[in-house]
Amino acid sequence: MPATKIALEEHFMAPDFAEYWEGTIADVPRALRESILSRLSDFDGVRLETMDKAGIARAALSLAGPGVQIEPDRATAVRKAAQANDFLAAQVQKRPDRFIGFAHLPMQDPRAASSELKRCVKELDFKGAMINGQTFGRYLDDRAYDPFWATAQDLGSPVYIHPADPVRQPDSIASYKELTRATWGWTVETASHALRLIFGGVFDRFPKAMLILGHMGETLPYMLWRLDSRAKLYGVKLAREPSDYIRNNIAITISGVYSPEPFACAVQALGADRIMFAADYPFESSETAASFIDDVAIEERVREAVCAGNARRIFGLD
Ligand code: ZN
Repeated sequence: MPATKIALEEHFMAPDFAEYWEGTIADVPRALRESILSRLSDFDGVRLETMDKAGIARAALSLAGPGVQIEPDRATAVRKAAQANDFLAAQVQKRPDRFIGFAHLPMQDPRAASSELKRCVKELDFKGAMINGQTFGRYLDDRAYDPFWATAQDLGSPVYIHPADPVRQPDSIASYKELTRATWGWTVETASHALRLIFGGVFDRFPKAMLILGHMGETLPYMLWRLDSRAKLYGVKLAREPSDYIRNNIAITISGVYSPEPFACAVQALGADRIMFAADYPFESSETAASFIDDVAIEERVREAVCAGNARRIFGLD
């Protein structure tokens, strides 16, 4: 009997948003692109069938990025983010037993992003926000985002950082297109983003803020000792050791990393209560994700916590 699962990095597309997303998958063959787009736009057909087969009771839905975070006109970004959230809320309302909403936010306007997050949580019953990496070169450690973090902390809303492209590809991989994006580039970009939050003192200013990282923590669980040791050597001034923030202000999902070795590392490094299930629908196979967590050699209480218990606690689900 497969465990009941709550999946946390599951994507959708709203009408009038595909253009923002197209650059991200420009390298994917057209037929595959079209099939992904049709699965992103579906809420009650293949999506629910796939969830049922994988034992996914509930899916937290987020707009396939980067969405309005690449919209050059600020007012348009603010308006369209609200439009995406209203669209999602209507879908969640049809199946509140199966779907949970994550807010899509216009990060080029930190104050508007804060009030939209508040509206999404208070009025639309969303459970957090999904941020697609940097916004016009600005990362979430920028002091301009302090009001945003204050709001997220007050609301108790976790902020999930989803990989997205940097402004420019680093020289080290720019000439190796196959290393950019999901192969390796997004890992470097997203792990660096999380480390900027830690080293930039965001969690000293907002000690109850909660960050979610996908992809088994974007390699950070592997790095704890080295981060602490080098931070000491370089005289980094933080209230706590880097590993302490990673263990206490960050929770991770297993999205897109379905192999036992990094999972075992994450469980040991962060604790079984910080790791949650995700299938990254429709970019990964939900069946692969589900059979990995159903079969991996682990205590049953850990499996249940990862599959659903931790998500219930961290996102306050009933
Ligand atoms: Zn994803």
